[in-house]
Amino acid sequence: MPDTLLRAEGLTAGYNGVPAIRDLDLSVGEGEVVSLLGPNGAGKTTTLLALVGLVPAMAGTVTALGERVTHKRPHLLARRGVRLVPDDRGIFYGLSVRDHLRLARRRADSVRRAAVLDRFPALAELESRKVGLLSGGEQQMLAIAVALLAAPRVLMVDEMSLGLAPKIVQAMLPAIRDLAREEGIAVLLVEQHVELALAVSDRAVVLNHGRAVLAGQAADLLAGRDRLESAYFGADEFAADSVVEGVS
Ligand code: ATP
Repeated sequence: MPDTLLRAEGLTAGYNGVPAIRDLDLSVGEGEVVSLLGPNGAGKTTTLLALVGLVPAMAGTVTALGERVTHKRPHLLARRGVRLVPDDRGIFYGLSVRDHLRLARRRADSVRRAAVLDRFPALAELESRKVGLLSGGEQQMLAIAVALLAAPRVLMVDEMSLGLAPKIVQAMLPAIRDLAREEGIAVLLVEQHVELALAVSDRAVVLNHGRAVLAGQAADLLAGRDRLESAYFGADEFAADSVVEGVS
């Protein structure tokens, strides 16, 4: 079993005192890719925000890199190597690719810079271009490159595929999986492309109405398609005890 780098236990979080996720258990190990799946409004983004402290936990705990971080400030978490690429990609349309890389890599050494740009050679050719003029796929590459320059131990990516052609998603997801393996990064992906996500994941958790309704090895979930579809579309028939195996 890989070392667990990120763990949520009994995590409940939401907005204005109303939980959007309830009693969630989740873990991601070193070099592992875990997908967080579920229909619109299931609580996927809220989970990521709660894991990094941007939405405060109402109950439960979050542990990152062996330390309890439940009520830590988000920037301290980022400094420890827990990075979130948000669904709006967290990039600035008026700045160039070079500006982003420069801002991000202040503390990155040159070896890391070269390694990251090697993974996304297209970015090197686009350095002078304003981000607003990049394609969706190029913007996503940049957002991930910026996160990687900080040499994260935990990387969470929210809806990487938003607005991207499936062909681009098909190329980028394996690149993320390879990164996780090679660098031992714990990766938590929120994805709408269920099959593509499962194809590159070790494990997955399906959320519905803020609860984990199904969890297991990605291959098992792919093989048990009916169960996966029910978890997506028919949350009512799922209770916590119907979870395929331990969520963590
Ligand atoms: P999607 O795939 O549509 O992004 P999601 O699974 O990421 O959905 P969340 O965005 O986490 O779901 O939303 C979970 C619930 O929390 C929804 O009912 C949503 O309306 C609510 N919610 C999300 N953001 C806020 C907010 N800022 N204030 C109040 N409620 C919110």
